[in-house]
Amino acid sequence: MNNKRLVGNLLHAHGLKKTPIRTEILALFMDHDFALSASDIVSKMTAGHDRVTIYRALSSFAERGILHRASEDGQGIKYALCGQHCPDELHTDQHAHFICDECHQTYCLEDVKVPEAEISNEFSVTRVNYTLSGICKQCKG
Ligand SMILES: [Zn+2]
Ligand SMILES: [Zn+2]
Ligand SMILES: [Zn+2]
Repeated sequence: MNNKRLVGNLLHAHGLKKTPIRTEILALFMDHDFALSASDIVSKMTAGHDRVTIYRALSSFAERGILHRASEDGQGIKYALCGQHCPDELHTDQHAHFICDECHQTYCLEDVKVPEAEISNEFSVTRVNYTLSGICKQCKG
């Protein structure tokens, strides 16, 4: 199956209408094995789209459980495809991420689970970041 078909199925499964911009953005995620930020997407898109449209598309993908936040840096939030179908707004695929010191790309470490934290119920946790850094497989080469 080609990426366009896969993207169509993914949008459908998460109740989002298939639009050219959504299709193009998700196809980009499928073509890369590292996380992408809104500015990465702007620079990789074929046609010029305004940033607002792209930001909006990314946040609706994150809300619908298609993408998750992989990392955040000076460039903004980097998103990655969810490995499995996540129910809306509830990412059940929590895992560690790896940020490369050389190329600064973020990779999902889907097999590395986030350690369970014992936290008092005075705090309610909305997000967990578990990030490792070092040299990625590409840069090690
Ligand atoms: Zn997810
Ligand atoms: Zn690297
Ligand atoms: Zn990830």
